[in-house]
Amino acid sequence: MIEISAALALIEQTATPLPPRRMPLLDACGRVLAAPVVSDVDSPPWDRAMMDGFAVQAIDFQAKSSAGVALDVLVDLAAGTVSTMTIQSGCCARIMTGAAIPTGADAVVPIEWALNNTADAHAGGKVCLSTEKFRTGQHLAKQGTAFRCGQEVLSVGTTLGSAAIGLATEAGATHVVAAPRVRVAILSTGSELVAPEALPALGQTRCSNGTMLAAAVRLLGAEPIPLGIASDRPEAIRALVAQGLAADVLVLSGGVSAGDLDLVPEIFQRCGIEKIFHKVRLKPGKPVWFGMLKRAHEAPTLVFGLPGNPASSLVCFELFVRPAIQILAGSPRQQWHLPRQRARLMGPVKAAPDRPVYLPCRLLRSARALEATPLQWTGSSDLLGLAGAGGLLALPAGGDRYDVGDEVDVVLWAAVECA
Ligand code: AMP
Ligand code: MG
Repeated sequence: MIEISAALALIEQTATPLPPRRMPLLDACGRVLAAPVVSDVDSPPWDRAMMDGFAVQAIDFQAKSSAGVALDVLVDLAAGTVSTMTIQSGCCARIMTGAAIPTGADAVVPIEWALNNTADAHAGGKVCLSTEKFRTGQHLAKQGTAFRCGQEVLSVGTTLGSAAIGLATEAGATHVVAAPRVRVAILSTGSELVAPEALPALGQTRCSNGTMLAAAVRLLGAEPIPLGIASDRPEAIRALVAQGLAADVLVLSGGVSAGDLDLVPEIFQRCGIEKIFHKVRLKPGKPVWFGMLKRAHEAPTLVFGLPGNPASSLVCFELFVRPAIQILAGSPRQQWHLPRQRARLMGPVKAAPDRPVYLPCRLLRSARALEATPLQWTGSSDLLGLAGAGGLLALPAGGDRYDVGDEVDVVLWAAVECA
């Protein structure tokens, strides 16, 4: 049995980022960029109107007058239309947001500044515009003021969110080089397990780990590969483990502790998987198993055996599988683990004497502190308590009692509610 910190160190030593690949931009959503994106255009690509109104020459607005200034409208410019006309003193163009500013114009006067009911003036007409608050350059975005052609707009290590995807598109990148999606095979073991759609008979248990772990994988931006259920027969487990070893990570649940039918550690070893650790000092999740299979021309497959009890399985996933997937996905170190913070305890709890314990809690950020309220929870098979949790209290071993007002560590699991 090893400590959590030692287990994490071993995972960090074993997992290495998957080789990056070129892929269509949208496939890289949520992935980490491995080559910079360099723009093939200026942004804006030309001087652009940022308001509906009139493109004017600033010189006509120098003399302030309560009567405004009357200008001839030379042309109507909708977004997408361009004109070769030059705007000179005394003239303007009616222009809509997103149209190119015509030569000669150096500001856009919003349509709302039209006086004497002239807001509807089109080409051939006259408009009277207020001069009061005029500034040269107003309401136009100059070419290249956001970024320049040839500029690096996204750097290596950026996780591609929606704004970054939009920016890459604007910069002309239809494909990018990024870490591939980590493929995670998920296998549930147990002769008592029945498919999610079945109503369990006496002695049967619905296989909730399969979908739960697939969801956890998907929420990390990785790709779950569900392998279904293997009964507690060595051949059944071995066949599906062999399939799972084609993935980047194999996550198996059940059969890893010390019961008669806990066959998994031996099967792993017979499949050539090298054991790195088995059993970690923690509650829930003590039986967790970790190893790897070396492969000839590919990165090794990382293999996790998680305890079957659903809450233990999920706690182990979040503590141990999450960082492995994040490392393979090339994520920066600060994203490897769930964030940890100090919180003010809102109800009494007791630590376990022999090992660190994780307990579900509600989290609320008040003006004073992050407040952690322990949730009613019956233990490692209870998903109800866990599903309502915003985080996990992390109590060190020692059997101490903690009371209301004490400061404790919490692992943030979901977005924190604000009071
Ligand atoms: P095990 O780790 O195989 O000893 O299983 C511990 C407990 O977890 C048993 O009560 C199992 O029925 C239950 N369990 C194992 N696998 C699953 C699963 N995939 N979904 C729900 N419960 C499970
Ligand atoms: Mg079992």
